[in-house]
Amino acid sequence: MGRKERIAKAATRTASQVRENAARERGRRKRTSSASGVPSHRHCSVCWAPIPLNAEPPVCSDEECEKTHEKRNASRKRLTIMLYLFPAIAILIALLTSI
Ligand SMILES: [Zn+2]
Repeated sequence: MGRKERIAKAATRTASQVRENAARERGRRKRTSSASGVPSHRHCSVCWAPIPLNAEPPVCSDEECEKTHEKRNASRKRLTIMLYLFPAIAILIALLTSI
């Protein structure tokens, strides 16, 4: 194998490598972009199974997931109420004691 031949071979190898890398890079970018082949959807808030975008409540058809979601919702609501109720009570007590 001559020197010239070896250089030519190395050049083509590098060129094909670059092409391959570019193709891989394109593929990665495509996957991360929102314009992928997957239609827009949301996930079950319990088991993360894909469900329709307009599913309300955001859980799958599994009864167990529905129950868990209901429980979580109730506890969240309770927490929100307490978040407002406790400062209100504290202010009320402060007002009452200052009179
Ligand atoms: Zn689920």
